[in-house]
Amino acid sequence: MRVLILGGGIGGLAVALALRQFGFDAHVYEQAHALGEVGAGVAISPNAVRVLHRLGLAEPLRTVGVVSHSLDTRDWESGSLLGRVPLADAAVTRWGAPFYHLHRADLHNALRAALGDEHITVGACGVAVEQSDNGVTVHFADGRVASGDVLIGADGIHSMVRDHVAGPDQAIWSRQISWRGLAPASVGREIGLEMRHHSFWGPRKQFVCFYVAAGRMVNWVGNTQSDDNWQQESWSARGNRSDALKLFEGWHPEVVALIAGTEQVFKWALFDRPPLATWTRGCVTLLGDAAHPMLPYMAQGASQSIEDAFVLARCLADDPDDPRRAMETYVSCRLERTAAIQEASRDTGRTMQLTEPAEMLARNARLRANPEAPVARFDWIWSHDVVGRTV
Ligand SMILES: Cc1cc2nc3c(=O)[nH]c(=O)nc-3n(C[C@H](O)[C@H](O)[C@H](O)COP(=O)(O)OP(=O)(O)OC[C@H]3O[C@@H](n4cnc5c(N)ncnc54)[C@H](O)[C@@H]3O)c2cc1C
Repeated sequence: MRVLILGGGIGGLAVALALRQFGFDAHVYEQAHALGEVGAGVAISPNAVRVLHRLGLAEPLRTVGVVSHSLDTRDWESGSLLGRVPLADAAVTRWGAPFYHLHRADLHNALRAALGDEHITVGACGVAVEQSDNGVTVHFADGRVASGDVLIGADGIHSMVRDHVAGPDQAIWSRQISWRGLAPASVGREIGLEMRHHSFWGPRKQFVCFYVAAGRMVNWVGNTQSDDNWQQESWSARGNRSDALKLFEGWHPEVVALIAGTEQVFKWALFDRPPLATWTRGCVTLLGDAAHPMLPYMAQGASQSIEDAFVLARCLADDPDDPRRAMETYVSCRLERTAAIQEASRDTGRTMQLTEPAEMLARNARLRANPEAPVARFDWIWSHDVVGRTV
């Protein structure tokens, strides 16, 4: 079976690798002229690390990944601890795999090396999809075409394939902006930033930071509610460091020092999208952000695209004579879970960014009184085992 994959991001490479390991002829078409990932960090939780280990990436992940001691919820101003999820060995004991903080390019390179460049075509921007009883054809911007039995749209948040499957995008402007950057690790060391996932919850904003790239950099993301109408949803939109500093004025010194110590700041306008009714049309299906884009507050977008990749490959392997049915099975395995995580991401964003001081005090008191609450927030997601499960 010839499987075409549009999009060579984390999800597209992961599904290509899984499919080839199950014996399929899978090929990735990526619009960028050079394969790569943006300069940013990503938290990959045990539910996805388990899949990456199954795909043979345990060693490269160990080399480039950062194993943090814990995931800490902290007060925006004092930095005091509101809740803690133990990670490191505790994550392996509880969830069966490590929790890694990674530079996105390191994860992308590990997937690419395992897949092999001969299975990836760059400079191939898909513009149209055509289906027949015999299969599917993708048309590219430069006039080329590619044909196969199945097409997987792993083409991200602005997916062209999603338009073919489900019609026009239903994006809703969330009035939130993620500011982000990578500071040299020396900045983290100077301020005594511990090797943890720090999440500062404050009025109308939240700030996350953690070490990545084998400890050489600190990745940070500051999520803010926006008062203007700037709406660019892109990894490459540049922001001003001085604007970011102003937004986080008065926040804990670690937050301010990280922003001040970052050369180039970026910003991303967050859009919310309701779950799709289905991800499949004929012999075309969707995966990752193309299927279930989510707000970043549960840090699950990339991890869910990795779960999708394994489940989709296994559904096709289990039912190779009827790929359309196999893809329906894939969707039925994935839709409910990813819709629940989309919803949890929305709710968690609201809880993190309360406005009223009284509400914040009550929330903080609840968190301090129940040390298991932060664990429960993630337990149902991180304990999910798509590798061990029969789908
Ligand atoms: C600020 C922020 C922080 C985040 N932090 C985390 C985190 O800590 N953990 C986590 O799990 N997730 C996180 N996410 C979410 C995560 O980044 C995404 O969910 C993930 O990148 C989705 O992967 P994907 O492969 O589906 O899509 P993408 O990574 O968007 O890849 C899509 C690929 O398709 C290509 N493409 C697009 N259109 C075409 C076309 N027409 N033809 C050919 N190629 C095409 C693109 O060039 C790209 O390479 C975060 C997101 C944001 C915005």
